[in-house]
Amino acid sequence: MDTAARHTPTRIQQCGPSELEIAWSDGRESRYPVRQLRLACSCAHCVDEWTGEDRLDPESVPDDVRPLQIQPVGRYAIQIDWSDGHSTGIYSFRQLRALADLD
Ligand SMILES: [Zn+2]
Repeated sequence: MDTAARHTPTRIQQCGPSELEIAWSDGRESRYPVRQLRLACSCAHCVDEWTGEDRLDPESVPDDVRPLQIQPVGRYAIQIDWSDGHSTGIYSFRQLRALADLD
């Protein structure tokens, strides 16, 4: 398996208010419920950098949270500005692909 293709998106688009779709170079298409992505945020505010412990209270994330803006970070990740005011989360393509491969 070509790991570069597995972790290289060819298209990232929002489909509806609650789903994000990513098409990968190896042909797979993944759809993510956006709230799940918000909860998977691994920035220093949401996950303790030292212990790896979850600091984000899922109750504090609105059910209708959605991305306001999605920006590329280099060639390896995207950064999402969320409607709940959170914008420090960076999602590497590797992390996103791993989330998709869970199902
Ligand atoms: Zn975060």
